[in-house]
Amino acid sequence: MKEGAGYDRHQWNSCYAKAYFQEGLTRDYKFRIKQLNLLTKMLKDYESDILDALHRDLNKSEYEAYATEIGFLYGEIDLHRNRLKEWMEPAKVKNPLSHKGSKSYIIKEPYGTALVISPWNYPINLALAPVIGAISAGNTVVLKPSELTPNVSALLNKMIANTFDPALFKVIEGGKETSEELLDQHFDYIFFTGSVQVGKSVMEKASRHLTPVTLELGGKSPAIIHKDAKLDLAAKRIVWGKFMNAGQTCIAPDYLYVHRDVKTKLLAKIKKYIKIFYGRQPLENNHFTKIVNKQHFDRLSNYLNNGTLITGGNTDRENLKMEPTLLDNIGWQDEVMKEEIFGPILPVLTYIDLNEAIDNIRDQEKPLALYYFGEKEHEQRLVTETLSFGGGCINDTLLHIANPNLPFGGVGMSGIGSYHGKASFDTFSHAKSMTKQTTKFDYGFRYPGSKLGLKLIKKIMK
Ligand code: NAD
Repeated sequence: MKEGAGYDRHQWNSCYAKAYFQEGLTRDYKFRIKQLNLLTKMLKDYESDILDALHRDLNKSEYEAYATEIGFLYGEIDLHRNRLKEWMEPAKVKNPLSHKGSKSYIIKEPYGTALVISPWNYPINLALAPVIGAISAGNTVVLKPSELTPNVSALLNKMIANTFDPALFKVIEGGKETSEELLDQHFDYIFFTGSVQVGKSVMEKASRHLTPVTLELGGKSPAIIHKDAKLDLAAKRIVWGKFMNAGQTCIAPDYLYVHRDVKTKLLAKIKKYIKIFYGRQPLENNHFTKIVNKQHFDRLSNYLNNGTLITGGNTDRENLKMEPTLLDNIGWQDEVMKEEIFGPILPVLTYIDLNEAIDNIRDQEKPLALYYFGEKEHEQRLVTETLSFGGGCINDTLLHIANPNLPFGGVGMSGIGSYHGKASFDTFSHAKSMTKQTTKFDYGFRYPGSKLGLKLIKKIMK
């Protein structure tokens, strides 16, 4: 089915996406580049609408919207555009002696039609970043954005419908039921970003068709602050990473795990930076993101009576605003430590011995991110090499996600698979292994009945 040929753009059905893929257009390099260019043009044309929708759904400031959503996407598209030719080239591999005369190589083949299901916290970035990979790898795409950010969802639908052939890239809006109906269909790849609980259900549904999945999930990501950390810098970078987007970031530090000797000093500095970044009255700060809805607001409010309040704690339910809040004297048994917080509340646990802290973190599910603050290299290595987690930083927070050369994803309960940059292209490509045999000669020893066969095979395959 060629672009614009013989069907009504508005009478969409997933068979169109499959038929369009089968037509073969998406296998072409120039076609893919054209779609990536269209994606950039779409973002530029609708930039002010995107900023407006993000502000209406989440009170996101223009700075945060640009830095963490739109700007990120421009960079990602550019990288794919610049490297796509090289990534698409079949990759030659070495032959063993037994394959003399033949050539072996890997073809990066698009899976077909990909389903992308996205969450609400970075609703533009997390919807479109996987799509960049899906399109650059030559797939057709169906995107189901989150219903909890309705202005962004409607805008995604509108701008994508106005830019792309719906058989190539289509948005289906809706909530849980819509998502479940889509998952009942047979897609060739499923890329899901969201909670662990829903991730399990997505994988269960995918298993019916043995559809490969990427699951970008969440969890409780610790920030360990050791006694030799540069405390002022640590406090500044923790406040930045935790309270960006009001803590509604999958890789935000979920809790602090601080050495007893430096806790008082660190907490004082964190208080200082909260004031510097968000003012004395954060609830009045128009640039502070709101909580996505009342249900999440009430869930978070229940944590506020855990431990000892160090700073923050004030809330505005009507406007869904919650102050950056620091809670000390928290133990593993407290409610706030039972699930991912996903809001502007930062609980503080204390340790005396770094090995004890490592053991306690190892007892939890593998986190999506981990941050270690401390100067000594052997301790940095001890933490990052003995604990399993998706990815992280030493002496900073969040930064690893913004390097397109680092695959981003979780491990264990925090996810399966990864993306960004080349990892996105690889994620949406099947690696097809090929051997091209020569017809110029044929070794007889591999065939039954060859006298020399066993002797030669033992020599070659030793
Ligand atoms: P969610 O799991 O509730 O929803 C995600 C998407 O799944 C939405 O589009 C939703 O409509 C859909 N959905 C809901 N119930 C479903 C069901 N039963 N079957 C199929 N689809 C269903 O997650 P959320 O609240 O939108 O996002 C917050 C979670 O996402 C947090 O846990 C956070 O850590 C995680 N997250 C992870 C990443 C990452 O990159 N690893 C990024 C952002 C958010």
